[in-house]
Amino acid sequence: MAQSIADSVPQPVPIPVIPLREWMPWALFGGLLLLLLIYFVGAEQGATSLIHGRMVHEFVHDGRHLLGFPCH
Ligand SMILES: [Zn+2]
Repeated sequence: MAQSIADSVPQPVPIPVIPLREWMPWALFGGLLLLLLIYFVGAEQGATSLIHGRMVHEFVHDGRHLLGFPCH
């Protein structure tokens, strides 16, 4: 009787381990994309300007205020 109860207890599913050499390039790529996003939100057309005009600034203006970057 006790053995039939122990057999019905669900066993944890093993979590697959992803080797470091497989996920590290993707982590670096994602980090670079995030740094680029932070640049465009925080500095583009503020302290520096890579793209002419005010389109980028207006597009990320609310995010700029939300994250506390100086604006106006
Ligand atoms: Zn502003």
